[in-house]
Order: sequence, then C-alpha cells, then structure tokens
Amino acid sequence: MKKITIAVDGFSSTGKSTLAKQLAKALGYIYVDTGAMYRAVTLYAMRKGYIGEENQNIPDLIKALPHMELKFVYNENLGFSEMYLDHENVEQEIRTLEVSKNVSNIAEIEQVRLKLVDLQKKMGKEKGIVMDGRDIGTVVFPDAEFKIFMTASPEKRAYRRYKELLDRGDKVVYEDILENVQKRDYIDSHREFSPLRKAEDAIEFDNSDMGLREQFERIHGYALRIIKEE
Ligand code: C5P
Repeated sequence: MKKITIAVDGFSSTGKSTLAKQLAKALGYIYVDTGAMYRAVTLYAMRKGYIGEENQNIPDLIKALPHMELKFVYNENLGFSEMYLDHENVEQEIRTLEVSKNVSNIAEIEQVRLKLVDLQKKMGKEKGIVMDGRDIGTVVFPDAEFKIFMTASPEKRAYRRYKELLDRGDKVVYEDILENVQKRDYIDSHREFSPLRKAEDAIEFDNSDMGLREQFERIHGYALRIIKEE
C-alpha cells in the first residue's frame, strides 16, 4: 500500500502526540514529535545561560546551533523514540514546566526554525511518517496527504497537562499550567516566522469532549480512506 505523510498540528496539550503515536503504530509509520526538538534547543539554551529570567544571549545560541546534535533514538521497551541532545537522553528534562515556560521564545527565532525544519523535512523524505507540531501542514510538509488541526478549550488542555505532570511526580499548580498554555498559544500564533495556523486543507478536530478511543477511531478511519485513494 502507498505510504502517505500525516501532519498533526494544533495548540499546546491538545493530545497531538498521543494521537500521532497511536496513528503511527496502527499504520506502521515513523512518529516524530517536533515539539521535543524545540524543547531540546531550549534546554541547551537554559543550561548554557543563553536564556533565563534575567539575561538573554540569543546571538551566542545562534552561533552554537550548527554544533548542536539533535537525534531521535528508538526505545524498544517504550515503543517510541526519545530525544537525544549531544548524545544525552533528555526526554524527561525537556518536559518540565521550566522548559515549557521558555520554549515559545526559542521557537520564535528564525535560525532555530530553519535548522529544525530542515531536519524534519529530511526525516520525512520517504513518507510513511506522522509528524506533530505547529507548522507541519503549513511549512514542513505543505503537500502532506492528510492534515489534522487539533483544538480544545484552554482549561481542558491545562488540566490534562497538569495531570500528566502530577502523575510523573512534578510539583505543579493548575493555575501556572493554565497561564503557560495561554501564553504559549499567544506567542505561537502571533510570531513572525511560521505562526501556528490551520492549513487551509486541514481537517479541524475539537476533542474537548471526546475520549481518546473515539478520537483515534475517527482519525484512523479517515487516514485509511486517504491511503486507499492514493
Ligand atoms: O508540542 P509541544 O507543546 O511540546 O511544543 C513545545 C513548543 O515548541 C510549542 O509551544 C511551540 O512554541 C514550539 N513548537 C513550534 N513548532 C513546532 C513544534 C513546537 O514552534 N513544529
């Protein structure tokens, strides 16, 4: 059967990665979480002191970009790939609220976007890929055969994220998460380079009141129909 490219975009914490992972598994496709790449660059910038509460040194971050190695390594036990920054597994560290607070500012930088979009295009050259992010259907794969744009209310999204962080043992306050989700929505949709927006040919999917199973079944059905038509 012919392989297609599936682009999953949308606001923070809409369950893009859960859906994209399920789809990739069911179709035998590669799954790529582009948010993890922006988060890894952010972690790098935080560790080097290029971004923080008081000082910023974006020119030095830009200079360091060509020397930074970002790689996904498949973890057989987990059944998905994990993010590696310069040979170190940073999968846990990139998911903290501290990284979430800084990531949208790093993702606004044109040079960061150029580097990551170039890597993402290379990963999708052979098709058979499900990629999630903010600009996949608009910039990375404008010719993707199937584009999904996911939305849900900010409160529902913040609550899901809050539960996720609590479950892994992080000490977090719901109001902080809601504020972070709303701030990221704003920065992501108003930035100059590749702002978050729905591609004209994407199907919009609001999952505020939908269970994971129903969501998966509907989208999987759609994907199979598109694959058959190809
Ligand atoms: O998907 P996730 O919430 O992990 O993404 C973290 C942040 O990375 C987003 O809020 C956004 O600022 C940025 N991002 C982006 N473009 C992508 C993926 C993520 O700008 N394709």
